[in-house]
Amino acid sequence: MIYLDNAATTKPNHSVLETYIKANEAVYFNPNSPHKAGLQGEQLLQRAKNQITELFDITSEFDLIFTSGATESNNLAIKGIAYKKKDVADEIITSVLEHPSVLEVVRALEDEGFTVKYVNVTEDGQIDTDHLQSLMTDRVGLVTCMHVNNIMGQVQPVEKVSEIVQQYPKAHLHVDAVQAIGKVPLYFDHVDSLSLSGHKFHGLKGQGLLFVRNLHQLTPIIHGGGQEYGLRSGTVNLPMNVAVVKALKHAVQDTETTNEKLAYFNQSLREFIQQYPGVYINSPKEAAPHILNISFPGVKGEVLVNAFSKYDIMISTTSACASKKATLNEVLLAMNVDKTRVEGSIRISMSSETSEEDIEAFKAQFENVYEEVKELLQK
Ligand code: PLP
Repeated sequence: MIYLDNAATTKPNHSVLETYIKANEAVYFNPNSPHKAGLQGEQLLQRAKNQITELFDITSEFDLIFTSGATESNNLAIKGIAYKKKDVADEIITSVLEHPSVLEVVRALEDEGFTVKYVNVTEDGQIDTDHLQSLMTDRVGLVTCMHVNNIMGQVQPVEKVSEIVQQYPKAHLHVDAVQAIGKVPLYFDHVDSLSLSGHKFHGLKGQGLLFVRNLHQLTPIIHGGGQEYGLRSGTVNLPMNVAVVKALKHAVQDTETTNEKLAYFNQSLREFIQQYPGVYINSPKEAAPHILNISFPGVKGEVLVNAFSKYDIMISTTSACASKKATLNEVLLAMNVDKTRVEGSIRISMSSETSEEDIEAFKAQFENVYEEVKELLQK
């Protein structure tokens, strides 16, 4: 099988699985228990957190909360901040580029009475920072901006966004960096919170991270025993949190080599695909290299995914969570991509483990799929 759906999830690294099993056998303790073993657990938890923040050189600026995934991290950051600031700053700024774990939370808050403003999206899939500047007011309590888009791969102007948000002291900047980690360097300056998901960088599913600059800016959304600074109750999954350090080390230390390798594969795929009349490349050239979105106008994305799947090539239509819904992709529509191109779009996504053989196998099977659908293409 050739797996090119790494934006949906990645294969766990063997060393992560090994550490997870070993830690479960040796330190299965509850870090909240008052006995010696619990204390050892607490120390290990703290060590894992320090090792992680040291990787980004942010130990003195950020605390780290472990959650069940980036969906929970995004929910905690967004609701946690919105509820805390409700009386002084009840406006939220976001864009339709965001993943549903951000967008749907913001939409739910809109139903609760918060004012939500959507930043325009440029034709190359970035948020329009001039428009963002024009939307800012003293009532804005939260701005969310993803680091790398999960459908197109477009890198968002987080630095520019942070410069704008900084001018408004009440406004908190939340960054969903799930698709950025290990592919492009993460940007933390003047960011107030940032979420990651273990299973997108060869860690485990059900592992979320939320970096927070000032814990007092958040209010909890899960109540209980008061773990994780009182912001995320529930017994801490110590073995998983110890194991994620391995995955994160690999991802961070290999970012540059992974980026270079995938940029080479991306370019090679672009040159190959361009030879086929009627097939279009949607991802802008400057996008992060692991995601390549292309369209076969006239053929439905699901038909293409099935056709590739028949040849043991795993790709996806849009995102794994949205692909089962019969709605047109909002990200592509926001970029003004033609409706038939949106319907016929597929996403090829790579990881640090993608090899030259995978890319060559994809190309070979692409020819077969193209032969099958070419009569339907609207050239
Ligand atoms: N944010 C982005 C950009 C994603 O791509 C995903 C997963 O597809 C998520 C958030 C949600 O992550 P998780 O699966 O850990 O809940």
